[in-house]
Amino acid sequence: MLYSKLFGKTTKTVSRDATAASHRLLLQAGFIRQLSAGRYTLLPLGLKVAKKIEQIIREEVEKTGAQELIVPTLHPIELWQQANRDQKFGSAMMRVTDRNNAEFTLGATAEVVMLDLVKQFSPSYKDLPINIYQFSQKFRDEARPTGGLLRTREFVMKDAYSFDIDEKEHQKIYQAYWQAYKNIAKRLDLSTVVVESDNGAIGGTISHEFMVETDVGEDLIAKCSCGYAANLERATFVKDKKPQDGQMKPLQEVEAVRGSTMADGVKLHGLPLWQQTKDVVFVDENNRFILTLIRGDFNVNETKLKNLTGANELRHATDEEIINILHSYPGFISPVGIKEGLKEGTSFILVADDSMRQITNMYGGSNRKNIDLLNINIDRDWQPDIEGDIAQVEDGYLCAKCQKNQLHLTKAVEFGNIFNIGFAYSDPMNGNYIAKDGTPTKIYMGSYGIGIGRAMATIVETHHDTKGIIWPKSISPFHFHLIGLDLDDPNVSQAVGDIYQKLSQKFEVLFDDRLSTTPGEKFADADLIGIPIRLVVSRKSLQARGIEYKERSHPEIRILSPTDLFAQSY
Ligand SMILES: [Zn+2]
Repeated sequence: MLYSKLFGKTTKTVSRDATAASHRLLLQAGFIRQLSAGRYTLLPLGLKVAKKIEQIIREEVEKTGAQELIVPTLHPIELWQQANRDQKFGSAMMRVTDRNNAEFTLGATAEVVMLDLVKQFSPSYKDLPINIYQFSQKFRDEARPTGGLLRTREFVMKDAYSFDIDEKEHQKIYQAYWQAYKNIAKRLDLSTVVVESDNGAIGGTISHEFMVETDVGEDLIAKCSCGYAANLERATFVKDKKPQDGQMKPLQEVEAVRGSTMADGVKLHGLPLWQQTKDVVFVDENNRFILTLIRGDFNVNETKLKNLTGANELRHATDEEIINILHSYPGFISPVGIKEGLKEGTSFILVADDSMRQITNMYGGSNRKNIDLLNINIDRDWQPDIEGDIAQVEDGYLCAKCQKNQLHLTKAVEFGNIFNIGFAYSDPMNGNYIAKDGTPTKIYMGSYGIGIGRAMATIVETHHDTKGIIWPKSISPFHFHLIGLDLDDPNVSQAVGDIYQKLSQKFEVLFDDRLSTTPGEKFADADLIGIPIRLVVSRKSLQARGIEYKERSHPEIRILSPTDLFAQSY
C-alpha cells in the first residue's frame, strides 16, 4: 500500500475529549474517526487491525468446536419480552419500529435469538452440545460513551452461545472457552486477570471476566496475593468484628441538633463510625422504595443490591420523597418504625447488610429532624425483609478467601467474558431438548463475548509510548513500514521501488512514497502508526550498501543488505 494513496492520514489535532491514550493515538494515527458520540468509523488502517483480531479470535474459538453463523441485527421485541430481557437491559436497549408498527430492538446481545434458532430444530440429546458464534454489530445506548473505542454505543462483538444437556456438560465448553480466551489474549499480547463477575443484564449465575489492568479502565477489580480476584460487584471480604460485649441496652431517644452527614453523627455522639447505622434509600424501576441498612464505615454496592432485590435500575430517593412518601427526614432516616409511617400504598422493603448483625447498640436517626436513637438493635427494634451482602469492597479490606491478606483494588478494562447462563432463557422461552427417555428437558446455556474495538483500544493502551502506537506483530496493519527518502534521486527511487515490489510478494508493506514530506515527518508518522518494523531507503543507506532496519520497540538501527533483508524471517 502506498501511503500517498492510503485513505485516512495522520493528524496532529484531536478533540480535547480524547484523554485515553488509545483514543488519542488511534485518532492521530488515522485508524478511526468519530461519527457521533460513541460511534466510530474504522478507517482502512483500523479495519485491517480489527480483521486480524477477528481472525485470531475465530481460529481459537473454533478450537472449542464452535461454528460461525450470523443472525439479523433487528430482533423482534417479543423475543426479548419472552425472556424479560427488555426490562433487564432497560434504557440501554435501542428500539426501532418498522412500517407496520412492528417493534424491534437493535441487538445488544443475541441469547434470545440464538435460543429461538436452536428451538426451530427441536434438538434431541444427540444434537447437543450446540456451539455457535458470530461476529456482528452490537448496539447499546450507553449513557456515557467514553475513551474512544473503549466504551461505544455501536461495536462489533464476537458472541458465542453454547447449548447443553446439563451443567456438567456445559462446564466442558465453559472451560474450553476459558482456554480459548487465554490463547487469544496471549496472541494479542495482552496479560489478563480472570475475575469472578456478576452476570448483570445477561442473566444466570457465576461468570468470569478477563480483565486487562490499565489506568484508563472503568472497572475496579479486587485482587489478593492468594490468587483470589473478583470485580467489585462480586468481591467479598471479611467484615471485621468490633470490640463489643454484645449486651443490648434499652433503646433511647436523644436530642440531636446536627447536620445530615455521617461525620455529623460521629461528632455529636462521640461514638465510632462503624457503630452508626448508614441508611440509604433507593428507588427501583417499579417505584419500589428500598431502604438499605449497612454499618457506618461501609458503602452499598448497587449491583449487589440489585441482585439481592431483583431490581433492574436504581436511583437515590429525593429529599422530597423521603419527607412526603416515607414520612422521614433526610439525614435522620431510621429503620425503627419507618414502615408504620409510610404514605399509604407505598411499595417498600428494608434490606440489611449482613454486617448489621455483628454490631449491637447502634446509633442513628429516628425519622424526625434533630432527634437520634441510641442502642438500636436488629431483630429487637427493627426487622429486615431481606438480609445479605451488599457491601462494597475497599482497598486494604481482608480477603474472604484466604482470610490472611489484604485485597487491593486496581483499574482494569474488561476484554472478554464467559457467562454460565443456565436456564435464565430456556425457562421463560421453553427452550427444550428431547432427553434420552423422550421427555422435553430444559437446555443449559452459556454465552461468551469479546468486543473487537475494545480489544483494539486495550492493546493500544498497553502498547504505546510518547511517540505513538507499538503494535504487536500478530495484529499490526502491515508487517513493514517502508520509508523512501531522496525520492527525487532516480537511483534511490528505483532501489526502493524494487524493494517494495519484492517485499510485497510475501508481506504487507506500507510504503511512504510521499515526495514533498520531510524525513522528520515521515519518521514521526511511522512511530505514530506503530508498525513493528521500519525500513528506510535513502541516498545515505544505499551508500552503506543497504537498507536501514529499525524495530519500533527498540532504538537500535542496523544496515541490512537487500540479501540480508530477504533472508531474515519475520
Ligand atoms: Zn486472599
